[in-house]
Amino acid sequence: MRSFTFERAESPQAAAQAAAAKPGAKFIAGGTNLLDLMKLEIETPRHLIDVNGLGLDTIEAIEDGGLRIGALVRNTDMAADERVRRDYGVLTRAVMAGASGQLRNKATTAGNLLQRTRCPYFYDTNMACNKRAPGSGCSALEGYSRQLGVVGVSDACIATNPSDMNVALRVLDASVETVKPDGETRAIPIADFHCLPGDTPHVETALEPGELITAVTLPPPIGGRHVYRKVRDRASYAFALVSVAAVVQPDGTGRVAVGGVAHKPWRVEAADAALGDGARPAAQHLFADARPTEHNAFKVALAERTLAAVLSEARR
Ligand SMILES: Cc1cc2nc3c(=O)[nH]c(=O)nc-3n(C[C@H](O)[C@H](O)[C@H](O)COP(=O)(O)OP(=O)(O)OC[C@H]3O[C@@H](n4cnc5c(N)ncnc54)[C@H](O)[C@@H]3O)c2cc1C
Ligand code: SF4
Repeated sequence: MRSFTFERAESPQAAAQAAAAKPGAKFIAGGTNLLDLMKLEIETPRHLIDVNGLGLDTIEAIEDGGLRIGALVRNTDMAADERVRRDYGVLTRAVMAGASGQLRNKATTAGNLLQRTRCPYFYDTNMACNKRAPGSGCSALEGYSRQLGVVGVSDACIATNPSDMNVALRVLDASVETVKPDGETRAIPIADFHCLPGDTPHVETALEPGELITAVTLPPPIGGRHVYRKVRDRASYAFALVSVAAVVQPDGTGRVAVGGVAHKPWRVEAADAALGDGARPAAQHLFADARPTEHNAFKVALAERTLAAVLSEARR
């Protein structure tokens, strides 16, 4: 691991200012992703700003009937919160499907949003990777791509977003609240928060330099049956090959988002509109522009079958 300097921020804006002022600075929250990447020298921050003491660790009801979840709320606490469990069950189920108990006790809302891809070539510093080293090429395109993306991919990168939580936040239409170094705050809809790879796969989110996530807000509850189903190679402690988050209303209409298939949690308006007609029409919209590789073409059929199982569970 490369050496780095360290500070504890005193306020959210001070943290953002410090990050903007020091080249190569990064925030550290639970450290469960960042420290692993630093040990492998995939991330080499020269300065770490600890944001754990900023008081961003509460979950509060907001005036419009929604919920504000602080950036530093641990995944375990978010999943266990009575209001989240009752009104946003898909979020509790998605978070509980991820990592392990110990990791969820440390992992935070913001850190989970920003966790980096699990593409094996991103982790292997001997291999070309446009995300790790822009312009170096993409080893996955001609390599082994079973785990990787099938839709929204580019010629520069076919990686997926590995988060379970993000898929649920997408189906719930969450927003990401931030503060910039000059004190300006903004709310970024989750649909616009994560980027597709395009020619710049190293640019993963809409965040600007130094911008700190302060919270995630959930709109008022929408009712319906909340289901999250994750398909993976092992029953626990594994990332999704495919996951489906859905909120299904009694008349069969609803919303669906898919994980494990794209650079961002994947949701398509036309698929929501077709959900009442069943899994096949919805999946046809979700994967209309799919560009799978020979190794991961199975994901398209797997996603449709997983969605069929989710719809069946929602009807029970
Ligand atoms: C063995 C293992 C298995 C796992 N399995 C799963 C799984 O199945 N499903 C799943 O979804 N996840 C899984 N994870 C990933 C885990 O969920 C993430 O590591 C965790 O959510 C990251 O949160 P953190 O607080 O530790 O982030 P950190 O490691 O502290 O930070 C991650 C990134 O977020 C940035 N950051 C942190 N806070 C802020 C902020 N407030 N504003 C702006 N930037 C910020 C950091 O600079 C860093 O770039 C697994 C991890 C491990 C190690
Ligand atoms: S798919 Fe993306 S992360 Fe994986 S090697 Fe290619 S550029 Fe890197």
